[in-house]
Amino acid sequence: MIANEIPAIANSLWSASANPTPPCPPLEGEAETEVAIVGGGFTGLSAALHLAEVGIAATVLEAETPGWGASGRNGGQVNPGLKEDPDTVETRFGAEMGGRMVRMSGEAADLVFSLIERHGIDCAAARTGWVQPAHDARAMETARTRVGQWARRGAAVRLLTASETADILGTEGYLGAMLDERGGNLHPLNYALGLAWAAQRAGAVLHGASRVTGLKREGERHVLHTARGRLAARRVLLCTNGYTDGLAPPMARTIVPVRSVQVATAPLGDNVRRSILPGGHAASDSRRLLLYFRLDPQGRFVMGGRGAYDTAGTEHQMARLRQVSRELYPQLGDAEWTHAWGGYVAITADHYPHLDAIRPGIMAALGYNGRGVAMATAMGRVLAEWAAGRPEAELDFPVTPPRPIPFHFLRRPAVAATVALHRLRDRIGI
Ligand SMILES: Cc1cc2nc3c(=O)[nH]c(=O)nc-3n(C[C@H](O)[C@H](O)[C@H](O)COP(=O)(O)OP(=O)(O)OC[C@H]3O[C@@H](n4cnc5c(N)ncnc54)[C@H](O)[C@@H]3O)c2cc1C
Repeated sequence: MIANEIPAIANSLWSASANPTPPCPPLEGEAETEVAIVGGGFTGLSAALHLAEVGIAATVLEAETPGWGASGRNGGQVNPGLKEDPDTVETRFGAEMGGRMVRMSGEAADLVFSLIERHGIDCAAARTGWVQPAHDARAMETARTRVGQWARRGAAVRLLTASETADILGTEGYLGAMLDERGGNLHPLNYALGLAWAAQRAGAVLHGASRVTGLKREGERHVLHTARGRLAARRVLLCTNGYTDGLAPPMARTIVPVRSVQVATAPLGDNVRRSILPGGHAASDSRRLLLYFRLDPQGRFVMGGRGAYDTAGTEHQMARLRQVSRELYPQLGDAEWTHAWGGYVAITADHYPHLDAIRPGIMAALGYNGRGVAMATAMGRVLAEWAAGRPEAELDFPVTPPRPIPFHFLRRPAVAATVALHRLRDRIGI
């Protein structure tokens, strides 16, 4: 169970199979550091590790425990690239910056798997490839374009026919797919915990149960307040993504937190297991309300999709995911469903992650739009480079002012309306 979480989304498979958490006592009394990091998910832990590795003192303040947020709850699918295709990114941001963003996001999975190897992180990492199956003709055209653009840039990406897709997925529901061999899957909580151990070994300081409730400038330093301590730092990195609170306005208004949920079966029998994703691929499909699915190393089937803000709606979505799973894979039949959990992803208005200069000396990275295993790890490294003094113009992502989303107070009804519209469009194929 996820500690300090509401029961409807707390029964996590990853928490039930987690490695030990490194010791991270709460911050007590007065402390100093070079770089203070708020939030102990992939973004904050990657930043801490990369800073510690170059000898810069970094302290992580996490409200709960490392990996407590989305990083410890997600599908564990390592998906390279941004949501937008490479040509679109380069058109919008220009050949120079856009090219850097494409390269950095395309190589983000390399970073994840190389960190795992370098630090011996025990997280069942498998670089088996990521499949994006197309559910209709329009999605197939998008897959063709996407594959063409990545292939022109030398990436290990190819288009699959309907029958190749059926072989890889073990279901015939799709017209074809993009296969991205750069991707794969892992145990997300154990990856986060492994980053935490590695950061600590490299010299970073980690404090759990240390929610930052105040952030003030005092002379040359920023002072972060928790219930029982104060931390002074030269620079501050805000890494709170879908869990962003009112600490540093207007940060919370630059994203919309949206709940995503997953359900998982007990380990399947050998015959059924061999018939589903036999090559161990991770899949996330092309629907507007996308389905993402995989097996875990014990042969449990794990299916994820959009949740709801309230408990009844969330439970309804979980039941729907079990039903959709049985439609895709009738052989799941009466498999026992043992886990159901969820967490918040951070959606941005333009569907890009943001690297936001909140105030002088305070930088935030957030808004991975549900695709942060690879990107949050990579953005953590960008934050570390900034905190170590690299000029903003040389970073791999553009630094922007925070851009609050207009009518943000209407976000919940707006999300509900958008979900209903997406569901209808997925159903009738427009
Ligand atoms: C159910 C689900 C499935 C997903 N599936 C995938 C997937 O398969 N592939 C993929 O690439 N991405 C996926 N994602 C998205 C991915 O998990 C996130 O993009 C990524 O984990 C973001 O990492 P982060 O470190 O920025 O934020 P988080 O991991 O959310 O960490 C933020 C942390 O900040 C802490 N915090 C907040 N406020 C404060 C404060 N004031 N003081 C101290 N600490 C604070 C929180 O406690 C939290 O631990 C999924 C997300 C969810 C929820």
